[in-house]
Amino acid sequence: MNNLDKHSLHHYWMPFTGNRDFLEAPRIISRAKGIYLYDIDGNAILDGSSGLFCTPIGHCREEISHAVSQQLNTLDYVAPFQSAHPLAFQFATALTQLLPDPINHVFFSNSGSESIETAIKIAYAYHYANGEGQRIRFASRERAYHGVNMGGVSLSGMVKNRQAYGPGLPGIAHMRHTWQAEQRFHRGQPGSGAERANDLERIALTYGPDTIAACIVEPIAGSTGCLVPPQGYLERLREICDTYGILLIFDEVITGFGRTGKAFAAETFGVTPDIMTMAKALTNGAQPMGATAVSDQIHATIFNAAPEKAIELFHGYTYSAHPAACAAGLACLEIYQNENLFNKVAALSDYFLDAIYSLQDIDTVLDIRGFGLFAGFDIKPASQPGARGLALQKYLFHHGLNIKMTGDSGLIAPPFIIQEQEIDQLVTILRQALEQV
Ligand code: PLP
Repeated sequence: MNNLDKHSLHHYWMPFTGNRDFLEAPRIISRAKGIYLYDIDGNAILDGSSGLFCTPIGHCREEISHAVSQQLNTLDYVAPFQSAHPLAFQFATALTQLLPDPINHVFFSNSGSESIETAIKIAYAYHYANGEGQRIRFASRERAYHGVNMGGVSLSGMVKNRQAYGPGLPGIAHMRHTWQAEQRFHRGQPGSGAERANDLERIALTYGPDTIAACIVEPIAGSTGCLVPPQGYLERLREICDTYGILLIFDEVITGFGRTGKAFAAETFGVTPDIMTMAKALTNGAQPMGATAVSDQIHATIFNAAPEKAIELFHGYTYSAHPAACAAGLACLEIYQNENLFNKVAALSDYFLDAIYSLQDIDTVLDIRGFGLFAGFDIKPASQPGARGLALQKYLFHHGLNIKMTGDSGLIAPPFIIQEQEIDQLVTILRQALEQV
């Protein structure tokens, strides 16, 4: 264990981890560079899911760490309530240049989960300010993941993430997810399945359209296996929202910042929501940060409803717009632009997807889905659901590849700086593992 005493490892309660299982053979990373992680014994591990979709620029970029350390030496912290620092304004402005119009206002938090809670509260506050305080219901989706705070858990469509935690927020109805057996091994947007968007209309007509505050979806459902929206699906959601005065929220915590080949999935799929959440690649994972961006209309409605000098939104975090996080984010935006990384994703996508789809001949591979530099695959479960997925993840780690597994679904989302021969390396390791486990 190098300089880590195995007996001292019990004090850290690891998130979303079988802690007892992990401690039997800990997989501990002690440094990273570019697309590689290095374990405590110095073995290189290709980071095939960019950590948790956080590091598309690659690990330990000096421009980012330099910007953060310079900021910490200049202004490490300032209360974000009733005071501010220049980078908060600069970063928000720079983000709005990437976001689709009319999404022009940004509220900062510290994680994807907080960006979701913020989106939920802004949706409530918007309708309240608009004289429609009865709009308190949300439409979410099966197989959704919107983080781990109670609002996000209530929206969640993943049974394990909710069953121990009570009923959650009242008034949440779930649409069906978009995956259907006929889409197996489809690449890109499936041609069928758009009609599942009509679930939103059924929910609206069941509960009363004027009781629904918002519909929230990940444009590509990420954590449950890269479920790409059928052609016309997001458009239909937009249409139904417009018909019934429902806000459309895109959770772009995974899809934001280039993963689909454009800055946001909203742009890739040509559908503009009213609210967008983001995190992860916002700072390349170098600082914890989330952001919730809203349309001019939402912003103006909430502002206009408050007396002129009063607080417009009673919401905020001690670390909202933390100076070091803003510095990291600004440095990232510069790299995304200077290195033309979103276009690079679009250019590399075919090569990447060809490589991943070459795995479909393997017996245990039940399905593959993919878009941009993002792919998901399902493997045949062993007797216990998730057991084969965990075995695969461990095997891969010891053979030089790190990927995110959710149960028996694997997620591949390499850093955008990956080269073609490194994609080959990733797929070679993955094939060998899938054939073994
Ligand atoms: N929303 C989506 C779509 C996510 O994928 C995640 C995390 O994976 C979250 C929200 C929560 O983000 P965080 O873990 O930063 O709280």
